[in-house]
Amino acid sequence: MDLSFSAEEEAFRQEVRAFVAEAKPQLPKNLGTPEQARRSKDDYLIWHRLLFKKGWVAPAWPRELGGAAWGVTQRYIFATETAKAGLPTTLPFGLGMVGPVIYTFGNEAQKKKFLPRILSGEDWWCQGYSEPGAGSDLASLRCRAVRDGDHYVVDGQKTWTTLAQYADWIFCLVRTNSGGKPQEGISFLLIDMKSPGITIKPIMVLDGAREVNEVFFDSVKVAAENLVGEENKGWTYAKFLLDHERSGLASAARSRAALTRLKTIARNEQLDGQLLIRDPDFARKLAALEADLMALEFTELRILSREAKGGKIGAESSMLKVAGSEILQRISDLAMEAVGYYALPDDLSLGDNEAVGPDYARGVSGRYFNQRKVSIYGGSNEIQRNIIAKAVLGL
Ligand SMILES: Cc1cc2nc3c(=O)[nH]c(=O)nc-3n(C[C@H](O)[C@H](O)[C@H](O)COP(=O)(O)OP(=O)(O)OC[C@H]3O[C@@H](n4cnc5c(N)ncnc54)[C@H](O)[C@@H]3O)c2cc1C
Repeated sequence: MDLSFSAEEEAFRQEVRAFVAEAKPQLPKNLGTPEQARRSKDDYLIWHRLLFKKGWVAPAWPRELGGAAWGVTQRYIFATETAKAGLPTTLPFGLGMVGPVIYTFGNEAQKKKFLPRILSGEDWWCQGYSEPGAGSDLASLRCRAVRDGDHYVVDGQKTWTTLAQYADWIFCLVRTNSGGKPQEGISFLLIDMKSPGITIKPIMVLDGAREVNEVFFDSVKVAAENLVGEENKGWTYAKFLLDHERSGLASAARSRAALTRLKTIARNEQLDGQLLIRDPDFARKLAALEADLMALEFTELRILSREAKGGKIGAESSMLKVAGSEILQRISDLAMEAVGYYALPDDLSLGDNEAVGPDYARGVSGRYFNQRKVSIYGGSNEIQRNIIAKAVLGL
């Protein structure tokens, strides 16, 4: 879907296109393509550093802190153009999560110490929210931090910690008070991953990649200066961060790029002697998906335009998350159906096989398995529906 932009916005779009065209050949093959399971730490950082050099790594951060301070429309143009080119998004943990928490709620020393290193990519951050038994019901978390003079002692476990194996720092929700309402005894602590007493164990995911981990804390000493904001007020900062996380999850532009790839498959694969795209059953599923994606794109634009006029988005971010994740999963379901058994050799869990079948079949099974996650992380779709029921429908 193309929109009409003002002359200034159109000039910005051309600048983004030129940057993307120049950047793409400098990126490793598995980064400039939609495949993600085989990315190394350096693969992620190459894209991050190119954006940093250009001054575009933190689109929403204020300019005085090194951000690009783009408005909603510029952010939309950038996201759309990079998705079209098959480029990844930067990882959210530093730039989209802890960075905004630090510059909104942290003190001057924390801003000075952490923000420049998030921008440059020197520090890799991971998110320590979920625990076994505390995911949807996050406020029941038990990882404990006990104040002892000028430091805290942390004991407990986090889980599903994305890419913790690469992380220099983890931002953690910890329990600092067990009395009263569970939300009122939580604090937001920044912990150096090299601290003695931290153990990381991988959880292998369905596509065979190491994407998530368990992180254990055994009497880990953390300087009290690493507490963000006030003790026992961490729930406020945690919710601020989750609102940021959810509003970025709709990814209609990424679904559009995935749907384009799916159409390429359907125009080339044969079923019973005819092209798949001419098969009535397949064509019906494709058309339904396209209609739903267009509805999502319009909804996203409507919300963006409200935001551009200074309006706040609330429970709409839950609607975008549910619709966006379901569409992305349906595209990967249909792609899997379309390429059939060609998809299997690219499943990482089967080992390092040579590619079999046409190029467009590459990465299809990896994406299919990997994208089961999108309806779970960032608050599962059932939880988002609960939010919509309460906040929008008043149930
Ligand atoms: C790939 C991946 C990466 C992740 N990365 C991170 C990370 O980096 N850091 C981090 O902290 N967390 C991370 N998570 C954790 C994620 O936020 C949680 O998995 C999620 O919030 C769900 O929690 P849970 O897994 O404990 O499931 P549970 O809360 O146990 O839920 C189990 C099922 O019950 C349903 N359910 C639970 N409560 C309700 C209810 N009240 N009403 C209706 N249905 C309900 C859920 O929807 C789900 O289907 C990641 C998860 C995944 C899958």
